[in-house]
Amino acid sequence: MATDFEYDLLVIGAGSGGVRAARMSAAYGAKVAIVEEFRVGGTCVIRGCVPKKLYVYASHFREEFEDAAGFGWQVPPATFDRLNAIYTRNLGASGVEIIAGRARLTGPHEVRIGDRNISARYILIAVGATPNMPQIPGIEHAITSNEAFDLERLPEAITIVGGGYIAVEFAGIFNGLGVKTDLVYRGEQILRGFDDDIREHLSAAMQARGIKLRLNSNIASIAPQGSGVRVEYEDGQSAETGLVMYATGRVPYTRDLGLEDVGVALGIKGEVVVDAFSQSSVPSIYAVGDVTERAALTPVAIREGAAFAETVFNNNPQAVDHSIIPTAVFSQPEIGTVGISEAEARRDHKVDIYKARFRPMKNTLSGNAEQMLMKLIVDKASDKVLGLHIIGPSAGEMIQAFGIAVTMGATKAQFDATIAVHPTAAEEMVTFKTPEPD
Ligand code: FAD
Repeated sequence: MATDFEYDLLVIGAGSGGVRAARMSAAYGAKVAIVEEFRVGGTCVIRGCVPKKLYVYASHFREEFEDAAGFGWQVPPATFDRLNAIYTRNLGASGVEIIAGRARLTGPHEVRIGDRNISARYILIAVGATPNMPQIPGIEHAITSNEAFDLERLPEAITIVGGGYIAVEFAGIFNGLGVKTDLVYRGEQILRGFDDDIREHLSAAMQARGIKLRLNSNIASIAPQGSGVRVEYEDGQSAETGLVMYATGRVPYTRDLGLEDVGVALGIKGEVVVDAFSQSSVPSIYAVGDVTERAALTPVAIREGAAFAETVFNNNPQAVDHSIIPTAVFSQPEIGTVGISEAEARRDHKVDIYKARFRPMKNTLSGNAEQMLMKLIVDKASDKVLGLHIIGPSAGEMIQAFGIAVTMGATKAQFDATIAVHPTAAEEMVTFKTPEPD
């Protein structure tokens, strides 16, 4: 291919979605180049899922040491004094040319990188998203998750702003590493959009673990003080802390990319508006991943990248189904969720709710008082499982497996027909007898 153009495909952004699309398109015979301004791998690998999970593991040890004492081990008080864990990866040899630099569109088939102009039959925008920070006085003294992985030393105290999954995950990490942690969120409860029982359970568990939650609260300004900062709240209160970290959402990274000049329609947050096949308003330009604001998760970006390659270079049009997405929050305790929340389910369905709250077996032996919650939301009319929510140890691992059943449209009767694995926490999901009273 690539007769009239230098390349069949030019991908902008070597993150989760872009790398998958580039590799698969090359495997289908396309001449492909990928442009990356920072490091190949993107957010997930360099400053997202992967380093975060390593920090979650690191911070869990404190609890493990405490639990170990309950099992009879003699453990000295746990402290942590090392911060590293950077993970890198190469694109590998798949015939894709890697071009270092920042790309800017100059036409429906043209991109400029430094002083080089490149033409391509198709252009794939896979530039991801970037942290969103409010423009308050002193914001320059705050960090985001981007910088959190590169701290040379841990602060004694941290104030994390935000109520989404990144905010609660980092609150768990810093708290677990022994940093006095406050979580400030302007809403009524953390994790908006998640099932209310899960939100309340996590909120209580985080506080029981020593995290101070300031709900219905927001920071008005930040000023340096001593080795840390002083924060003024909107309600007039103020407090000292070591560091402020903002995790108040991420916005598509389309600023100054030249998209508007070329006629690509953008949404209100700056996202590339695409159809079910990830095609933008300009037929030669497609977009996948966080930049499209569909579901900002690595496996979704990868799936969209793969569907793009199938559609454009394998004559096999594929639209990604975003309706059921199993997902985990690596908070402490961990959350696994698939399908819809009880509140959402009640809008359109008559439902049966099954709930189990119990201390996982490991906790009963260690003396750890923390409970686990499992919840099943079943449509009364069809018996289909509409939502399944877990908070407790290994919830993320469990939800990947339960996600298959829910994606397949499994019914409560099929859950009941499944033989339990004993003794596990997961067996609760196949042994529910009586729904909660209506
Ligand atoms: P990215 O992976 O962000 O890649 C975009 C790439 O484009 C970057 O490398 C960037 O440098 C490059 N780029 C941007 N503009 C240009 C330009 N003009 N020219 C050249 N290159 C450019 N998801 C999960 O599924 N599970 C998790 O546990 C999870 N944890 C997360 C934790 C954190 C702290 C964060 C921030 C995100 C997390 N995510 C998680 C989300 C996940 O990282 C993203 O959904 C995923 O990386 C999106 O992939 P992408 O291809 O859209 O963009």
